[in-house]
Amino acid sequence: MTDPTDDNDVPKPIVHGVASALSPLVRRIVANNPGMMTGPGTNTYLVGIDEIVVIDPGPADAAHLDAIAGCGGDRIRWIVCTHTHVDHFPGVTGLKERTGAEVLAFDARDGLEIDRSLGDGDLIEATEFVLRAVHTPGHASNHLCFVLEQERMLFSGDHIMEGSTVVIRPPDGDMAAYLEQLERLKGLRPRLRSIAPGHGHLIEQPAAKIDEYLQHRAMREEQIVEALRTAGTTTIDAIVKLLYTDTPDDLLPMAASTVWAHLRKLKDEGRVSGHELEGDWAVV
Ligand SMILES: [Zn+2]
Repeated sequence: MTDPTDDNDVPKPIVHGVASALSPLVRRIVANNPGMMTGPGTNTYLVGIDEIVVIDPGPADAAHLDAIAGCGGDRIRWIVCTHTHVDHFPGVTGLKERTGAEVLAFDARDGLEIDRSLGDGDLIEATEFVLRAVHTPGHASNHLCFVLEQERMLFSGDHIMEGSTVVIRPPDGDMAAYLEQLERLKGLRPRLRSIAPGHGHLIEQPAAKIDEYLQHRAMREEQIVEALRTAGTTTIDAIVKLLYTDTPDDLLPMAASTVWAHLRKLKDEGRVSGHELEGDWAVV
């Protein structure tokens, strides 16, 4: 019999602007920017107690930044960004004003200004923990994930999300790189215990989630190759109409990007010919 007061297995509903503890070292505050591309909103993580790293301050939303600063105060030493998409970094400026923290990311781009760049394997060393950067191009060429070794937790940004798959939008998005990095994350040592995504709930079965992602992409690639084989020569538009029958109209441009990303990968492998988002594609 289940105990109705025991809700351990049910993720708590996401409430904007309120810090929730995910582990001894990690708290999450969700920005109030829910939407088609952001799920319940952007997750901002505070890692550490005495010295804090903030991962992805999210949009430039004063209430959200006040909540982060209220939670960490001058113990916030570092602000890091997983990548430079607009739902993740514009809050940097306001949070730096509030805390004086050092800003770190893979590079300065899209309007993000940084104090120091982080590359693959670089460490942020606090008194109680170490956070390791993992360069994971795919969703964005400057995407970083972070591993909190002490808790075997991966902060996955938009490389892995809870509740949906990820949009890969060429040319900055790259499907081959994306899949390669998924495989790499799967093989990380120490083995991951959980994944804290950029959007959605904590993922408690990391290997199963990554496998699900890999299988989904493999299936999609197979469907695209099959569609090309059947049609001989076809367009991305036609492939999207064929494969994304249940997708709402306003998401179809995203689907087209993803199909394009698959086709670019297949082209690099010498399996298809074609070039642009709008244009003919064929099997070789
Ligand atoms: Zn995002």
